[in-house]
Amino acid sequence: MVMDIRFDAVSKIWPDGTRALDDVSFTVPAGQFCVLLGHSGAGKSTLLRCVNGLETSTGGAVQVGGQSVGPASLRALRRRIAMVHQHFALVPRASGAANVMAGAVASLPLWRVLTGLYPTPLKHRVCELLQAVGLEEAHLVRRAERLSGGQQQRLGLARAFMLDPAIILADEPVASLDPAISHDVLSLLRSQARGRGTTVLCSLHQLDLARAFADRVVALHSGRIIFDGPPETLKGSDISNIYTKSDASEAAVPLRLRFAI
Ligand code: ADP
Repeated sequence: MVMDIRFDAVSKIWPDGTRALDDVSFTVPAGQFCVLLGHSGAGKSTLLRCVNGLETSTGGAVQVGGQSVGPASLRALRRRIAMVHQHFALVPRASGAANVMAGAVASLPLWRVLTGLYPTPLKHRVCELLQAVGLEEAHLVRRAERLSGGQQQRLGLARAFMLDPAIILADEPVASLDPAISHDVLSLLRSQARGRGTTVLCSLHQLDLARAFADRVVALHSGRIIFDGPPETLKGSDISNIYTKSDASEAAVPLRLRFAI
């Protein structure tokens, strides 16, 4: 089943008063590859984490496939939402296959996880996905820590697709990879998602990658939307607005303290 994501006047104010999200409203239609652009601290990660309940908004609402994200729906929703992380979040000493299988743990009884006796169809799926993301048989058994960054993120992608999610949240998935590998990894994410009708909300800070892969760009600045549209409509002025750091947070810090940090 395909799912959209709807943000309705979402705000997030941290206990220290930092306003990470400020009245954010937009809908990501099912199957769209939507890129969140913005400099560090713009609110991208907080917004992504409000979709799978890792953070709770302090105002407004998030809906996934028409269902409100909240304590009552989270367990069921998390089976339909996968995440891809900047630093891969693999188990370094476990094999490639075990890391990909970890993507199916939510669907398995505890005894299977503890004994490692996985159902044969899931083992086939691990092999299928490893192949789909361009890894080889040798990577099945090799420890994740022995793989290159690009190969590790390919494992991260395969793990994310294990339960055939309706939504993938990718939080700066290529921030620790070099440009050529970043291109390959995003290309894989997009083609795998397209083939399955998966909705992708992916934060990036590289404009060229957003231009190459996004169906749509939503740019955040200080927690507010400052651009929403197809990447080809981004103008020079939009780009400079996106990458101009707000000095509000800096100005709020007393000068003496600023020198101390
Ligand atoms: P981005 O992903 O665009 O870099 P974030 O969503 O991580 O931005 O952060 C948005 C704002 O929220 C920043 O000002 C950041 O310092 C602040 N922030 C993030 N996490 C916390 C937290 N746990 N406690 C307090 N402030 C936070």
